[in-house]
Amino acid sequence: MSIRKIIADKRDGHELSSDDIARAIQGYVKGEVSEGQMGALLMAIVLRGMSIRETLALTTEMVESGQRLDLTEIPGTKVDKHSTGGVGDKTTLVVAPLVASFGIPVPKMSGRALGHTGGTIDKLECIRGLTTQLPPDRFRAQIRDIGVAIAAQSDAMVPADKRIYALRDSTATVESIPLIASSIMSKKLAVGADAIVLDVKFGRGAFMRDLASARDLAHVMVEVGSLAGKKTIALVTRMDEPLGEAVGDGAELVEAIETLRGNGRSDFVELCEIVAGHMLVLGGKTESPEKGRELARHGIQNGAGTAKFRELILAQGGDDSVLSDPQKILQNVIRTCVESPSSGYITNIDARLIGTAVRDLKAAYGECESRRLCGVWLHVRMGAGVSKGESLAHVLSPQGTTVSASLVQAIQKAFQMGEQPQHSSPLLAETIEH
Ligand code: URA
Repeated sequence: MSIRKIIADKRDGHELSSDDIARAIQGYVKGEVSEGQMGALLMAIVLRGMSIRETLALTTEMVESGQRLDLTEIPGTKVDKHSTGGVGDKTTLVVAPLVASFGIPVPKMSGRALGHTGGTIDKLECIRGLTTQLPPDRFRAQIRDIGVAIAAQSDAMVPADKRIYALRDSTATVESIPLIASSIMSKKLAVGADAIVLDVKFGRGAFMRDLASARDLAHVMVEVGSLAGKKTIALVTRMDEPLGEAVGDGAELVEAIETLRGNGRSDFVELCEIVAGHMLVLGGKTESPEKGRELARHGIQNGAGTAKFRELILAQGGDDSVLSDPQKILQNVIRTCVESPSSGYITNIDARLIGTAVRDLKAAYGECESRRLCGVWLHVRMGAGVSKGESLAHVLSPQGTTVSASLVQAIQKAFQMGEQPQHSSPLLAETIEH
């Protein structure tokens, strides 16, 4: 069938056959389907959705667009994790080395910034010299030698996701269950892990705004994982306010390193422990997520997580001095204070507004390396009492630049105030498995 007809069929709400999906994905990767045509198909999928059968076919085609890693020769249960994306979500940077420090291999393929959310790859690349472009043989060798690798999609592995991911970002076609599920699960299936922990986020800062849609997304991904023979578990977690204190690539890397060194903020530490705890169970290290959490806490306290992160940085060509002095990442930033316009209690910190402000700030620097220094460092969290004029946050920007008053105001607006203290709901809402 012609690509034109495939787009029209999806636009009109029809279910596509596996052959149609193969034609679209393979054609796009080969350059026979144009950016415009793929953009139109993505928008039709956002508006019309896909059945589970179509989502499976889409995921399969994306995996098949590149090489699949075979890690069977490496002993032990290989465990991967992925978040559906949130503001300030630097969990992978903590959890991947932490879990690997227990001898569980963690092959991880991550993405760049998407929509208003940041990307693990952009954060990791703030480390001088570090590469996230790992050819399949190097990726496999790194898992064998040190038990952890974090790489970006490439022309060799899930090239379809590499290109579709970037196109979704530029065509406002991110928020779609089949597109998120196929993007994430294609990366998970391509790196050859045996078990997968998914962090499915909902709320103002997430792509799924409410619990019901996050639950639907979680069920689809668990189904795709299980059908592929992978033990898959989804943790459905809240994402209304930013996670931790830092938002922005360099700042989040600093916070991740500080967290591995035992200086993390409690909400972020809690999520890291929950995710790591489940990964430790799937990896056979312990029998319950609670015991897994305790082990994770211990791995932070005794420095094992940091030591493993050092191995990862060195293996990927990075400068490991960042671990002893993380603040040097931000040495060339200027900090602009965001003051509280009134006195009261913080009733919400709108993660979407903060994420969008950081994305806009970064956009002003194009592809320049200094864009990685753009960010926001929060000084208060939900429930805090503040006085008029007190600092709510700092905006971080490269030295020699000024932050516009409108951007500072946009960030100020993210802090909602009330007369009564209000506390956050529990981070973990539900756990979904097959
Ligand atoms: N992470 C991904 O890899 N893809 C998405 O679509 C969302 C989050």
